[in-house]
Amino acid sequence: MLVLVINSGSSSLKYQLRDVAAGAVLTEGLVERIGMPAPDGGAPEVADHAAALEQVDAALHAVLGDRAIDAVGHRVVHGGERFAEPVLVDNEITRAIERLNPLAPLHNPANVLGIRAIAEKWPEMPQVAVFDTAFHRTLPEHAWRYAVPEWLYTRHGIRRYGFHGTSHQYVSSKAAGLLGLSDDAFDGVILHLGNGASATAIQAGRSVDTSMGFTPLEGLVMGTRSGDLDPSILVFLARQGHSADEIDELLNRESGLKALAGSNDMRTVVEAAEAGDARAAVALDVTAYRLAKYVGAYHVAVGGAKALVFTAGIGENSWQFRSRVAERLGALGVELDADANLVRSKEPRVISTPGSKIPVLVVPTDEERAIAEATAAVVNAR
Ligand code: AMP
Repeated sequence: MLVLVINSGSSSLKYQLRDVAAGAVLTEGLVERIGMPAPDGGAPEVADHAAALEQVDAALHAVLGDRAIDAVGHRVVHGGERFAEPVLVDNEITRAIERLNPLAPLHNPANVLGIRAIAEKWPEMPQVAVFDTAFHRTLPEHAWRYAVPEWLYTRHGIRRYGFHGTSHQYVSSKAAGLLGLSDDAFDGVILHLGNGASATAIQAGRSVDTSMGFTPLEGLVMGTRSGDLDPSILVFLARQGHSADEIDELLNRESGLKALAGSNDMRTVVEAAEAGDARAAVALDVTAYRLAKYVGAYHVAVGGAKALVFTAGIGENSWQFRSRVAERLGALGVELDADANLVRSKEPRVISTPGSKIPVLVVPTDEERAIAEATAAVVNAR
């Protein structure tokens, strides 16, 4: 089955064409600056998502030959409390995703634009929505509920949802496989460390806690996001006259590694620290320390982790950052194998010593693959 995976943003459309049975990527690309003025200030070169899709279609033609796309899988950020699994999209589902716009104002409207553009161009095309939040629908109430008045939940849906679910689920299943366990026998902690970063506690193959919350801002120190902080800081800033938009910008785009070290790119920060930059060294300490605290907490949450799993850009590639985190986990008996930690590979692998009380794994994530496979499964089950 050929599945076109779409990640539709407000001004960009990322796509990947996959042959699901072969596990192969046939082509991929990105259309940018949708609806944005041309560099000379003139009319946008790509007027809207429909125009972006025409560009994608042209690029796909060259690859497809006489084959046809069988289905489209969409990455949808917010599935609210309703969607616990990928679903076949129809008008009612599209409207349901749209009703969740207030919970993900930057993402869900853009995801819907992508869905509607496909429906207009290829009305018969099966479309599947794969939600970033869905895997975390198994969170128990003690993990998803914030200690705030009930009406914040009933009126505004304020609770922990969690994100990166497609990645956490995929990586958790691969890690279980590497340890020779079935998915539902796996207890562990997954660390998805990319530009956005989150930790998830997995018990019996299900998500039982996760560090991102009502939005992707909560939890770990990220590239440009602060992660956890005292909520009173927001009130304080508001009283100082900062607007909601300013505070949003400050915490989502001006914080994290960028604020601490001057760069949101882990490679740059690691290099700067190695060259003796004190700010970069502190940034790494803060980031690794905060992550190690979550590992400790989630080790408790899952009743004893059978594995600690690193994934995504930083988790897969930065041996320096992994070793800084592991150094702080001595109390759990975690011990990295220094040589294994240095290995660069696209394969899942163990990087701890045989004596480590908790095996430490690196498992490359592949959200597009997971979305394509989920899409094929939903379409085949029709
Ligand atoms: P992602 O969002 O998964 O694409 O991850 C992006 C993050 O991965 C950025 O902070 C990059 O600096 C980081 N990253 C990618 N490759 C490396 C590397 N070789 N060493 C350190 N960080 C890396």
